[in-house]
Amino acid sequence: MTSTPGFSTRAIHAGQSADPETGAVIPPIHLTSTHKQDAIGQLRRGFEYGRAGNPTRSALEEQLAAIEGATHALSFSSGLAAEDALLRGILRPGDHVIIGNDVYGGTYRLLASIFADWGVEHSVVDQGNLREVQSAVRPESRVLWCETPSNPLMKITDIAELAEIGHAAGLTVVVDNTFATPALQLPLALGADVVVHSTTKYLGGHSDVIGGAVVTSDDALFEKVRFLQFAAGAVSSPFDAYLTSRGIKTLDVRMERHSANAQKIAEFLDGRPGVERVYYPGLEDHPGHALAAQQMSRFGGMLSVAFAGGERQARRFTESLRVFTLAESLGGVESLVNYPSEMTHASVAGTALAVPENVVRLSVGIEEVDDLLGDVESALGRSAKKR
Ligand SMILES: *Cc1c(COP(=O)(O)O)cnc(C)c1O
Repeated sequence: MTSTPGFSTRAIHAGQSADPETGAVIPPIHLTSTHKQDAIGQLRRGFEYGRAGNPTRSALEEQLAAIEGATHALSFSSGLAAEDALLRGILRPGDHVIIGNDVYGGTYRLLASIFADWGVEHSVVDQGNLREVQSAVRPESRVLWCETPSNPLMKITDIAELAEIGHAAGLTVVVDNTFATPALQLPLALGADVVVHSTTKYLGGHSDVIGGAVVTSDDALFEKVRFLQFAAGAVSSPFDAYLTSRGIKTLDVRMERHSANAQKIAEFLDGRPGVERVYYPGLEDHPGHALAAQQMSRFGGMLSVAFAGGERQARRFTESLRVFTLAESLGGVESLVNYPSEMTHASVAGTALAVPENVVRLSVGIEEVDDLLGDVESALGRSAKKR
């Protein structure tokens, strides 16, 4: 009579059993750097020194694995620390990585600066074009790295097909699931080998913690990355692990509201005077709409807008918003606006990943949608005014 519990049940209960000593429903935050040994080498639940393991971090890792449908997860001090450890676990000098042309700027920077110096090469492809992906494969390719929806133009990639191409060539297929989250999309079930997260975003969900994760059911890869985490030390702190854990418990309800609000804003902006294009997979004319409808359970809280009035209008719109806060990052309960070409994507200016200057990215929060719509409407009005 046992069936796998549903998503929210796992998000709320995995790794979160009541404290056996006190009955506290919420497990305590284990603020300790080390653990008492009952005799030399006799550890309780395997804990010894905090870099190697901490009960609060372990609880979060259990929760992360449970929500992605995996057997293993590791919690890192940031999304990029997670990516770095994962890539080091797989790659050796001379190897090659294939990434999308709108991969997260920090991922590109990691490969283009740090891993390039280590003798690892990369190719940038349009992952919507599977023939282009296929033809980028070299004998020394090891990793196929994907983000869907992509940032900031919300391109949708078919994870199952990508995984097939990658596996035929013997590659490890990695999906950065930060934008969709496992509440909306399960890359491992679609064939990917590893999921990475910036838990800083939707999983934490409240813009109050930096963190990252590697999630996989591949035992050998997990052991390698776990060793790297232990040996290089990019672990999350117990308090950060607690905040992330707390965020994950409400992930599903938040994603429902993020998606509903984003859909309404996308529909409102679509076709308005001054708006050249709205990039949101929930719009029927989005080129990835049908695929997103099949691969994701909702369309998410991220959208981008290209303005007909170019850079000038994009800047005026961005700076006119009042409920949306002008800031980098995404995925918090509060709405944020970002001007990619000078903010999140400044590090890829002049590369194949550069974002057009008339594009603004919105991270739609879970405020009352009428307040968000009113804000967008008046900023649009102000952005169109001639000065
Ligand atoms: C923010 C982000 C990262 C990097 O995560 P940090 O927590 O900032 O290190 C990686 N991928 C995506 C898609 C992101 O949005």
